[in-house]
Amino acid sequence: MTFQALGLIDPIQRTLDTLGYKQPTPVQKQAIPAVLAGRDLMAAAQTGTGKTAGFALPILQRLTMEGVTEPKAVRCLVLVPTRELAEQVYESFRTYGGNLPLKSAVAYGGVPIEPQITKLRKGLDVLVATPGRLIDLHDQGAISFTLLQTLVLDEADRMLDLGFERDLDILLAALPKKRQTLLFSATFSDEIRKLAGGMLKDPVSVQVSASNTATKTVRQWLIPTDKRRKPELLLHLLRKLQWGQVLVFVKTRKGVETLVKTLQEHGISADSIHGDKTQPARLKALARFKKAEVQLLVATDVAARGLDIEALPQVVNFDLPTVAEDYIHRIGRTGRAGMEGEAVSLVCADEVEILKAIETLTRQVIARQEEPGFEADHRVPETGPKGAAIAAAKKMAAEAPAKKKRSFTGPAGGKAAAGNALAAGKAVTVARPAGGDASLGTWEPPRASPKTAGGARSAGRTYDGGKQATAPKGAVVVTGGRGAKSLARSAGNSAAKSAARKVKPGGR
Ligand code: AMP
Repeated sequence: MTFQALGLIDPIQRTLDTLGYKQPTPVQKQAIPAVLAGRDLMAAAQTGTGKTAGFALPILQRLTMEGVTEPKAVRCLVLVPTRELAEQVYESFRTYGGNLPLKSAVAYGGVPIEPQITKLRKGLDVLVATPGRLIDLHDQGAISFTLLQTLVLDEADRMLDLGFERDLDILLAALPKKRQTLLFSATFSDEIRKLAGGMLKDPVSVQVSASNTATKTVRQWLIPTDKRRKPELLLHLLRKLQWGQVLVFVKTRKGVETLVKTLQEHGISADSIHGDKTQPARLKALARFKKAEVQLLVATDVAARGLDIEALPQVVNFDLPTVAEDYIHRIGRTGRAGMEGEAVSLVCADEVEILKAIETLTRQVIARQEEPGFEADHRVPETGPKGAAIAAAKKMAAEAPAKKKRSFTGPAGGKAAAGNALAAGKAVTVARPAGGDASLGTWEPPRASPKTAGGARSAGRTYDGGKQATAPKGAVVVTGGRGAKSLARSAGNSAAKSAARKVKPGGR
């Protein structure tokens, strides 16, 4: 199918030709006609599926064909959870609307509000914004929603995770009831369904992939080792496997900085992205990485979602994430748009529980590959037949025999092998490094891609707000970082709200 068949107008077609988009992705095939027809949409699609063009292209077309804006008015509002995603989506609108007479802008916190107010003065066709800053703009009378025709909630699940629920309630109450609403979320949890139920009218449902899709296209493997040996092991792998550019995920901000220092001491060019860095510093680090000025970008989960780097061949999980779902987002930074991708995790003994959680979530057992000389003194327990992943897979198989084969995501042959081994109660190794079951010694590393400069994309995203997700379940944490005021709003606590304002300017 071509974009033409979807009914897109000429100026948009020309832009797509320039960008080299030959055919629509699955989410675009489903979303574009529905949005053009004015329908509401509930879409399960994550970054990397082409979802942004899925909503931006038809919205831009409708805005071009119908009406004009007025001072302070906004005709389309795209709500996103983070500054980085806001920049990225805004860039997409600018790129896709390059041949159209439309005005767009972006608004988020942590930067002065005045330039944003100035941009709004003459009115806008599209505003991409984080909820908190949008409320501030509305409170100051800088924006009018009377002409609003389309509302998009992008990464709605993350908005709820970040405590934006109350902000969304405030905003929804201020928006016209008669409008088109599009909701995008990586997952459809009960909370998301509840949110959708209250704001969507007879939505078209689009589901392009399960949340663990990335695990099928990215070759994954892990090396068990001791925590203290990880920096040395990373350096060893860089040399031995001749990796080109690598995105390295580390659990804490301090850990990121320590690793960058170690790498630099060994003559490796590296930069970092994490919640303690200012927005310009983060964008700069990302830009340097995209231009291949640095070989390694070391990040906290700040960069795990939304970060779009063309042809990134290698992701390293120096630490496993705190939340299993973030593993999927991390490895989704590679293997994009059908490219080859590799993700290796350096796993130590105290990460075995999160490893089990990841394997259960992704329904696979990640291949183990001992690296000679780096074997763990503190043994990393097997997650094999008795591990959570296998137990969960067995349970699933028992409950839904027809789905049994689909519960493994290894290469061809892996599924059957897994099934047989499962039946026999043996250990299963499904995902493998490139080159099949060869040891690291004989494995041919993928050639470093010469093409690393990204397109119109900008930064990754922050959601750690300067804190790792270690708070006990149910705890309300008010930090000075992103979403601080929103969290305070949720808690209905004005003291916390003003404290949040003071602590750190990088909030929204
Ligand atoms: P997204 O899921 O919106 O973050 O998009 C992921 C990447 O896919 C971006 O770099 C887009 O520029 C690219 N992309 C989106 N649609 C297409 C398409 N139809 N053909 C090729 N690349 C695309």
